[in-house]
Amino acid sequence: MTETARGAVLQAFHEPVAIAAAPIPEPEPGALIARIELAGICGTDIHLSHGHLPIPLPVVLGHEAVGRVARLGPGVERDFTGQPLRVGDAITWTSSIPCGRCHWCVVEGERTLCEQRRVYGINQRFDVFPRLSGGWAEAIYLQPGSAVFKLPAGVTPEQVIALGCAGPTAYHGVVDITGVTPGRTVVVQGSGPVGLAAAMYAHLSGAAKVIVVGGPAARLELARQIGVGDVHLDIFTTTPEARLARVLAETPGGRGADVVLECAGVPAAVAEGIAFARRNGTMLVLGQYTDRGATPINPHLITKKQLTLHGSWAFGERHYLGHLNALPAMAARFDLARLIVRYPLAQVNQAMTDMAGGEVMKPVLTMT
Ligand SMILES: [Zn+2]
Ligand SMILES: [Zn+2]
Repeated sequence: MTETARGAVLQAFHEPVAIAAAPIPEPEPGALIARIELAGICGTDIHLSHGHLPIPLPVVLGHEAVGRVARLGPGVERDFTGQPLRVGDAITWTSSIPCGRCHWCVVEGERTLCEQRRVYGINQRFDVFPRLSGGWAEAIYLQPGSAVFKLPAGVTPEQVIALGCAGPTAYHGVVDITGVTPGRTVVVQGSGPVGLAAAMYAHLSGAAKVIVVGGPAARLELARQIGVGDVHLDIFTTTPEARLARVLAETPGGRGADVVLECAGVPAAVAEGIAFARRNGTMLVLGQYTDRGATPINPHLITKKQLTLHGSWAFGERHYLGHLNALPAMAARFDLARLIVRYPLAQVNQAMTDMAGGEVMKPVLTMT
């Protein structure tokens, strides 16, 4: 067996990723090999390439991907939901494998908080078996314990990759933890993939009005064109005072938003979000995935407003499943294909540059 697959490998921080090949191993019991068709580039990948998170190198990047079953290891007969798995089936998988034994996994039952999580495309080294452990590659070795999902009927690979990890991340934070209810006025801070996914879930949850505060203008325009958000405020052309006045004017009685969903990732957005919220309102801090340092907030406002504050970290199996099951309704309402720009694997560095510049909402690598 000498078949190999090519992948995009981060060998050193601040350097372009390089295309390298590795042999495709025979799957051990419980493992399987997937041929990758589409792999997304996420803002986190840009942070990883700059060394903003402590990861081992070298690594095949890519934690969001869709592909087809190429080879099943002994004992692998069904997907995470119990559906039969066969060679050729279109599948996707959660990016992380929790240990299943630690305090967070067992006692708290919060598998996203597991500190021994193995994460494809992030902490699985390219120079250690099975090497092919990232999504930016022609094939991936899905280790025993991976949560693999056959795509639900009617769900396309393009729909799955359109929001990438932002989809299940928003499902966890917005649907599972915050629970937006019908008739709410919702502010979404941020207009990248997480912000758009959060806004889509607010719409699907029956929000009366969704106010998107983000930028740059091209991202807000794309959101407007596909019907995400009812009001769009550009942070690059407005002052904080003007934004606050406008948000309050858009809420019932000028009292502020019922729910604020922070998906900006900029620390200063948290103080602004607290200002947007009404008394007795709810705020979710979802966007601060990378530690970008401390920021001034006025804690008096949390007490005085009687705010409910939530955080949400990453996503697990059931959030990914929830998102996959929501995709038909989401795709029927929003043209998800508009979010994607395709690049061949060889143009991965250009795709990363376009992502970093905010020019492209979701660059997607194609492997064929
Ligand atoms: Zn991501
Ligand atoms: Zn664990």
